Amino acid sequence: AFREMQHHHKLSSIGRLAAGVAHEINNPLAIINEKAGLMKDIIEHTPDFPKREKFLALVQAILQSVDRCRNITHRLLGFARRMDVQIEVLDLNDVIGEVLGFLEKEALYRNIDLRLQLAENLPRIASDRGQLQQVLLNILNNAFAAVDDGGIVSITTWDADLDRVAVSIQDNGHGMNQETLKHIFEPFFTTKKGYGTGLGLPITYGIVKKLGGCIEVQSEEGRGTTFTVYLPKKPPEFTKE
Ligand code: ADP
Repeated sequence: AFREMQHHHKLSSIGRLAAGVAHEINNPLAIINEKAGLMKDIIEHTPDFPKREKFLALVQAILQSVDRCRNITHRLLGFARRMDVQIEVLDLNDVIGEVLGFLEKEALYRNIDLRLQLAENLPRIASDRGQLQQVLLNILNNAFAAVDDGGIVSITTWDADLDRVAVSIQDNGHGMNQETLKHIFEPFFTTKKGYGTGLGLPITYGIVKKLGGCIEVQSEEGRGTTFTVYLPKKPPEFTKE
């Protein structure tokens, strides 16, 4: 329990610092975005602009990088917003249904086999809908990233014990080795060079902790990964950070 607490503490102080930095970076980023957008307009509306295509490609590259930076700052700010939790009584299966709406297109397009095994009469839980959606989306996004087209992603819910319900998200993707597994909850750890932020799982971990639950991970290289999230039926007792 002591190790866990230290980990949590480290996460929240890094989160606070990161959110502060992200906030400061947002303004100059917005300016770069606006100016580059204006440059693009000018080039596009000037038919005889010298080396037109070349310049358009360059400006496009700037706009794409700005987009990437914004993505990172938005997620970092999410760390700080995690503080306010709104607890309501809800059905975990419903929340899963809501999240699937965001993923259906990609599943169809990539021919991913989404298998749902949702328990009937699953006891309701006291939790935060928006934050749970975020948790499920982060784990599902990783599962989608790990499988090849045509891969399998299974979502299962069950009544785990007296106090908790559980949801597992299993994929038959590339899996992780022991070394990777050790680091996945650390901010900025990513194996997705060039496009990962390494923030999905630390944010997920923080939210689940806050909601009074816990996460288990099992993974085998080349075979796949299972994330299991346990959530309390009764409202969590909030601890001051
Ligand atoms: P990101 O997805 O931006 O890399 P995350 O914190 O969500 O950040 O994930 C950290 C790392 O954990 C990933 O880069 C990947 O190496 C590993 N990971 C997470 N989920 C899976 C999964 N389902 N299968 C394989 N590797 C995973």
